[in-house]
Amino acid sequence: MRDKKIVICGGGNGAHTAAAVIKDQFPNHQIGLFLSIPSEFEIFKKNLEKGIALKVMTKQRTFMALLDFIADNPKDAVSDSDLILLILPAFAHEITLEAITPYLKDEAIIGAIPARGGLEFSQTKRLVRSNKNNVFFGLQTLPWSCRIKEYATLVDILGKKEIVGLASSPRSYAGYLSKELSLLFDIPIYPFDNMIELTLGNQGQIVHPGIMYSMFFGNESVKYKRNDIPPFYHGVDEKIADLLTKMSNEVLSIADKLGKYIPTKNVLPLIDWLITSYKNDIRDTSSLTKAFQTNTVYNGLKVPVKEKSEGMMAPDFMSRYVSEDMPHGLVVTRGIAAITGVETPTIDMVILKLSEWINKEYLVNDKLEGHDIKDVRIPQNYGINSIEALKGVVLR
Ligand code: NAD
Repeated sequence: MRDKKIVICGGGNGAHTAAAVIKDQFPNHQIGLFLSIPSEFEIFKKNLEKGIALKVMTKQRTFMALLDFIADNPKDAVSDSDLILLILPAFAHEITLEAITPYLKDEAIIGAIPARGGLEFSQTKRLVRSNKNNVFFGLQTLPWSCRIKEYATLVDILGKKEIVGLASSPRSYAGYLSKELSLLFDIPIYPFDNMIELTLGNQGQIVHPGIMYSMFFGNESVKYKRNDIPPFYHGVDEKIADLLTKMSNEVLSIADKLGKYIPTKNVLPLIDWLITSYKNDIRDTSSLTKAFQTNTVYNGLKVPVKEKSEGMMAPDFMSRYVSEDMPHGLVVTRGIAAITGVETPTIDMVILKLSEWINKEYLVNDKLEGHDIKDVRIPQNYGINSIEALKGVVLR
């Protein structure tokens, strides 16, 4: 990919990181951000005017970048961009894709990093409706664990994945895009067969809702002093690992059933994915519990909390571990389970409890008929109700 214009939609941890990692390594590419939130746009604008570079640090090296442009409206952001990367929580995907689609040039390629669940269903329908034919792709996860230290200025990369999967629509672009993204992100990226492998292979949908459920079901009103907030991933014990394994096994049953019609071999058991993704960061791989507890990338990552009265902290059930990973991950997988006829009692139990916590309704009497189901990317919302229909979208 030579001297391209690349726009990253989003202004969060991952967007900062990707922008600096690409621009530092490939100064000939034009790199910019589409910032639809005015306060974020203003901060970046001031920094650009003052010539303040974005600095992203790992333990080994620093990436420095002065962005080429920023945009606060979709037309300026994408109308002459070659590559458009959505590095956003999944709840912002649809609104962003709706905004940018009218302005896409024919050759533009769009990627969601990470894809989370069901992008293949919504984006295929959107492109058909808009009479567009753009290639799109997703990554299985964000390549980095990263946190902004100072907005628009400084980011810490806590760790990076050893390898990340990519799938595209049409499928034939996955090899080419994996090679290009491996270079841009300085990380090995390998091609999956198809996008449903991303939807089912999204391990965040298991890990985050599963840990939140295990830690807080029946313990919802717990409070912590600021210095006593427990670790999140390092807090995985045998009981939590058991729940995560059951959830992972249910996803594998769906993949197995679907695998007779659509390739799903890249949907891995949770423990295999964890060990593959963090090969050099995990000290003890003997069990799922140990693999979580001894992963150094998770050092210092705590339970999500919000401040309550008198300096006490309470679990934040609106955090993206619940509000993103359940509706935009687990519920979509549940939609595919319904099509394949696979039962998912553990996943259902987690969806029901987490839905209560965020005051949403997806599952009612074992059916995806809740009030809020219209807002998620289950295949059924796009008229896909059979394995044949799934094949039609996924095997393009
Ligand atoms: P983030 O929470 O930092 O991103 C928030 C940004 O998204 C905001 O700053 C804003 O620019 C944009 N945004 C939010 N709501 C929006 C809306 N309604 N419309 C338009 N834009 C909106 O997210 P992140 O940490 O960069 O993560 C991006 C994705 O990667 C998420 O799916 C996350 O779960 C995943 N992920 C992140 C990490 C990490 O370490 N940061 C690790 C693994 C996966």
